[in-house]
Amino acid sequence: MEVWQTTDDLLRMNRFREQGPLVLVPTMGALHEGHLSLVRCGAEIGPVVVSIFVNPTQFGPNEDYGSYPRTMAKDLDLLKALPVAGVFAPDVGEIYGEGLETSVRPGHRAQGLCGGDRPDHFAGVLTVVAKLFGLVRPDVAIFGRKDAQQCLVISQMVEDLKMPIKLVDAPTLREKDGLALSSRNRYLSDSQRQQALCLFQALTEGRLLLEQGCRKRSVVLAAMEAWLQKADSIDYADVRQVPDLGRSEDIFGKTLLAVAARVGPARLIDNLVLQVDDKQVSDSYLLGTERKS
Ligand code: AMP
Repeated sequence: MEVWQTTDDLLRMNRFREQGPLVLVPTMGALHEGHLSLVRCGAEIGPVVVSIFVNPTQFGPNEDYGSYPRTMAKDLDLLKALPVAGVFAPDVGEIYGEGLETSVRPGHRAQGLCGGDRPDHFAGVLTVVAKLFGLVRPDVAIFGRKDAQQCLVISQMVEDLKMPIKLVDAPTLREKDGLALSSRNRYLSDSQRQQALCLFQALTEGRLLLEQGCRKRSVVLAAMEAWLQKADSIDYADVRQVPDLGRSEDIFGKTLLAVAARVGPARLIDNLVLQVDDKQVSDSYLLGTERKS
């Protein structure tokens, strides 16, 4: 597995293009099994490049950019055990140089949810993803369904800017008890770890109501919010349509149940993507067609 730190180093990546569609898995490092599942999903498609870059422009002024876990040596060890062609791990200067005058402005999908009280978050995400796409020039990019709004905002960018890249959203990997794997789970004490389960419980409760036939957004939302009270504070609970992220009191079709809350020092997010029909509720996906994985 090669490690590339500069854009010049990336010239060495080109030989992998002959081996099949080049797949990019963008991460901020502090890797866990969720990230590794994205890599495994990518390896079924073609040679995989993993990027590791903690992107300063997507963190708000009071967020954890400075203390975000950076575990490069361990990350590289984990990736070495997988079919990874190379890792692109640039420093901030390599990506942002002397500064930035141009950025990518997200569309309406960035409103509310994780964009609600973080006005520059998705512009930061889109700008760095556009830079990574320009540098690596992947044929395919894989993102986690766990960051559902991020997937949909990126997909809008790819469509609007006619970027020749196929996007795949990979399923959320969870602990046995349902807690979604996250780099920020390491901030949690044992009791906060238990408390954090309320995010998945809120989603499970929302799903249960839908399975019992309820189709009213306000009812599902109230039940989700009741479970989220166990968190230290609630960022949001929401029920949105996929892919446009619109709201409708009557729930029908592809639907996102999404929650974000603070537990101790961590801001955690989770969601379920469901296909809600007249009589049936089933797991669904955000982009394109479902991959078996
Ligand atoms: P991050 O390093 O947190 O920016 O995440 C990098 C990628 O991994 C993103 O596309 C995330 O959506 C994805 N990801 C994070 N957690 C999980 C998880 N538990 N299961 C699957 N993918 C995940």
